[in-house]
Amino acid sequence: MDSTAIVRHTKIKATANPFLDEAYFQKRKFDKGMHRLTGKFKTIWKNQNGLCYHCGMPMDVTEEREIFYLAPKTKTGVEDVRNMRYVHCVCQRIYAENRLKK
Ligand SMILES: [Zn+2]
Repeated sequence: MDSTAIVRHTKIKATANPFLDEAYFQKRKFDKGMHRLTGKFKTIWKNQNGLCYHCGMPMDVTEEREIFYLAPKTKTGVEDVRNMRYVHCVCQRIYAENRLKK
């Protein structure tokens, strides 16, 4: 799918208020991810509804994000979508710092 098709289908509602219409904007972010991602990355995105695994807030596909492995990759050695979750970079940093403190 080319980019012009995406623009045509996702016209922004002029009246949409980001505070009152959170679900609408979350849906848009989710759809954008579904358009941009492919293969297993699209599956991961879809599995978690475009929400960060750590904080539960919507992620923007155009922003940096990381893959979080439920079971450490060093243990399982597999790149399995069931073991992979998208997280915000900042959330992953906080998570890693907290884990070190324990
Ligand atoms: Zn997050």
